[in-house]
Amino acid sequence: MRKKVVIGNWKMNMTAEEAKNFLRFMSVEVKDDEVEVGFAVPYTALWASIDAVRDNEYIGIAAQNVHFEPRGAYTGEISVEMLKEAGVKYCIIGHSERRQYFNETDEAVNKKAKVLLENGITPVICVGETLEEREANVHMGRIEDQIRKAIDNIDVRFVDKIIIAYEPIWAIGTGKTASKEQAEEMCSHIRYNVAKMYGLNVADNVRIQYGGSVNESNAKELFEMPNIDGALVGGASLKPTFTNIIKAAR
Ligand code: PEP
Repeated sequence: MRKKVVIGNWKMNMTAEEAKNFLRFMSVEVKDDEVEVGFAVPYTALWASIDAVRDNEYIGIAAQNVHFEPRGAYTGEISVEMLKEAGVKYCIIGHSERRQYFNETDEAVNKKAKVLLENGITPVICVGETLEEREANVHMGRIEDQIRKAIDNIDVRFVDKIIIAYEPIWAIGTGKTASKEQAEEMCSHIRYNVAKMYGLNVADNVRIQYGGSVNESNAKELFEMPNIDGALVGGASLKPTFTNIIKAAR
């Protein structure tokens, strides 16, 4: 039985002070382990956020990126050891905004996934197609390719720790959510591809989220689909009503 996991992606929002106040509120609201809850906060808010949820075992803090090298001359980058020291539980990699604006490649995503897993941090690997790819009917192949490259050659003991987020680019921040059928079709396709690479048992334990304009009105129907194990939520995770999305996953 896969436990649902709902993670808020704050992107470049929330100062450390704002994060602390918001997470103290969330800490009072999230009081059971029926759903796994996470918040991907900006680097500058990591320590304050981890401190704010220290007494709440049900909320984990995520980073939004990591460098795959352990240290060195990479101005502006953060290593896995730095995330580990802060107490990070998850790390988003391959988000479409990082692929689009910062040239993050499938190969880099694969390297990042490996260093995170070796260091006990759960990678949340984002994949997704553009509207043009969907309209040209090449979206299934596009996601298969991203998955194949992202999880290539990973120690089989670690594969079921990975969280995959299917985030169609046309649905991110647009208010245009994928239908539950579209989301389920792709999440099931992702699971099938993980099974082709690592076997059915492993694929059955991998959690696959949907992301893209999830809100309190559409969350429940998405979570009812058999291959959707939660959500990666952008805009709606910045509001106190994010608790309603968490409740919908119960
Ligand atoms: C995201 O950026 O991961 C995301 C899903 O954003 P939104 O929920 O705002 O579409």
